[in-house]
Amino acid sequence: MICHLCPRDCGAERTETRRGGVCGMPSVPVAARAMLHQWEEPCLVGEHGAGCVFFSGCNLRCCFCQNKPISQGEVGKVLTAERLREIFHGLIDQGAACLDLVTPTHFTDAVLEALGDEPWPVPVVWNCGGYEKPETLRRLEGKVQVYLPDLKYALPGPAAKYSGAADYFDWAGRAIWEMYRQTGPYKMENGLLTRGVLIRHLVLPGELENTRRVIDWVAETFRPGEVLFSLMAQYTPQPGAVGNLARHVTRAEYRAAVAYMSNCGLADGYTQERTSAKEEYTPDFDLTGL
Ligand code: SF4
Repeated sequence: MICHLCPRDCGAERTETRRGGVCGMPSVPVAARAMLHQWEEPCLVGEHGAGCVFFSGCNLRCCFCQNKPISQGEVGKVLTAERLREIFHGLIDQGAACLDLVTPTHFTDAVLEALGDEPWPVPVVWNCGGYEKPETLRRLEGKVQVYLPDLKYALPGPAAKYSGAADYFDWAGRAIWEMYRQTGPYKMENGLLTRGVLIRHLVLPGELENTRRVIDWVAETFRPGEVLFSLMAQYTPQPGAVGNLARHVTRAEYRAAVAYMSNCGLADGYTQERTSAKEEYTPDFDLTGL
């Protein structure tokens, strides 16, 4: 394939054996772990956990990424679409509350093939960085029930500085609109999210203004009952981080973000304890479950 799947628009040649583009991945799926995961938002976890498949490679390559060994490293096992489908079935057999596809964008073709045309017994969750093309998302219509995009930045400054994507917000805003067009207002059954859009935002140290602008956009764009919003506190400094990124988010910063969210009327959603900034959130990427 000559790849134009995401806003990087690399035009890179990606084949079964040839890796290319910013994501650095071949055309066939590569993943680093499949598991039941307890650390997603409660509406995705249920009794046994979200059925996560962690894909390797990423189109954003944020410098603070907590999953660098798989997003920017070489860790991962090459799969076929057929094997991916078996993995999905295996997670459901273990009691997964949903199929949680983590960073799947660059494998859209293979994921669509693995999902097939029949409905799945649990919601399919597209868990992505938000830097998506609406035209690629349109191909997922009817196959994905829950969108779980990050909305990392509303300001071009930090988007350029940390992810090399000054145009992040232009794309993410339109992508989230397309997601919402497909799902409509979120729906819950027995505490589980069965349909809808859950927007995540990770508070970054020293970037409160960016967080406020993200919250403004969500509050001004959607009415209560339309989307869910998750304000995340789990930023963890990575080795070699410099400047503000070398520290955790302070208690005052996170409190200010929670207060701003509340003042803007964003009541449909989640906040985290600051003590959740632990490495437990990051599983071992040891290829188990693949
Ligand atoms: S999916 Fe990968 S190769 Fe394709 S446009 Fe995006 S970053 Fe480039």
